[in-house]
Amino acid sequence: MTRARTSAERRISPRSVARDHEALLAHCGVGVLFLDKRGRVRSLNARAAQLLVINEESLLDHSLTAAIDSSEFTALVRAARTHGVTSSDEVTLRDAILRVHVHPLKTERAPMLVVLHDMTMLRRMETIRRDFVANVSHELRTPLASIRAMAETLRGGALDDAVVADHFLDTIINESQRLTRISEDLLILSRIESRAPFKKDFSLSNLICEIVQRFTPQAEAAHVLLDAHVPDALLVRAGPDEMEQVVINLIDNAIKYTPAGGHVRVVAERLEKEVVATVADSGIGIAVHDQPRIFERFYRVDKARSRQSGGTGLGLAIVKHIVEAHGGRVAVFSTPGKGSTFTFTVPVD
Ligand code: ADP
Repeated sequence: MTRARTSAERRISPRSVARDHEALLAHCGVGVLFLDKRGRVRSLNARAAQLLVINEESLLDHSLTAAIDSSEFTALVRAARTHGVTSSDEVTLRDAILRVHVHPLKTERAPMLVVLHDMTMLRRMETIRRDFVANVSHELRTPLASIRAMAETLRGGALDDAVVADHFLDTIINESQRLTRISEDLLILSRIESRAPFKKDFSLSNLICEIVQRFTPQAEAAHVLLDAHVPDALLVRAGPDEMEQVVINLIDNAIKYTPAGGHVRVVAERLEKEVVATVADSGIGIAVHDQPRIFERFYRVDKARSRQSGGTGLGLAIVKHIVEAHGGRVAVFSTPGKGSTFTFTVPVD
């Protein structure tokens, strides 16, 4: 009969401790390297080689600082070795930002432990957030300054001139509407970012036809022909409100950027495992170098034109976010002076 091991016996089994350490090093998500007293790599985990973009063989038994060739990295290792204290800093290696900790250990075999944390994504997100806040402030400042200047001029005496007063009041109303649109678009963006779309089955063709009908007066006023070619029942499983926003933004843009006499056509069809929808216009088109950037927040090819037509520069960023949150793709194909075709897909299982 085998005797059950006591918990103390289980705790001190060296083999199981080694196995636990091995599993921990393999899955802990941080890079770990042990160096000997001459700074050569005695052992490392796979994540360390991955973060340093050097294969394990080129690191094992080689000087770490020579393999990495970074003065910041070398300074950290030297500081830890010379002063016998942990040294730590952020180091940029090629495109990656790593937080490097170098810990002196009291062991003969590997007296130095190097731990690497990948900070690249976090720092990138911080930069994006900082730029976004700066852009939002900039976008809000222009209409606010204009409203203030108009109100001050009115108070300074322009109120007595009915024609001038009327013009200034119109501008104040337009600018405040612009501020409302920006804040609405920002709210839409933050809503999409903060929660997954609530999906249900619905007919994308019905949604497209309804929106086309809603936009017909706007298209007629702009002397643009707007029509839709969609099959009767094109079922998708998606967030209906979000999909409505996508179609509205694309049709609104297509009409805005198409001169009188042009046309806008919305087409949707099922192709294998996805529904592909396109909004094509015969408008002003987009230069090749602008095409990859138009989905960025606040990016506008022609700021004055976008402003004049009531644009916020957020419409396509919203489109991209929604479509990608549904697992689909967005694309643009455009020829300046001839027109643009925007495509989005919705996966169907
Ligand atoms: P906006 O509110 O300025 O229209 P969007 O994010 O919707 O912002 O679009 C970004 C920019 O992409 C626009 O300012 C415009 O320069 C360009 N753009 C978008 N749609 C079209 C289109 N159908 N034809 C030509 N240019 C377009």
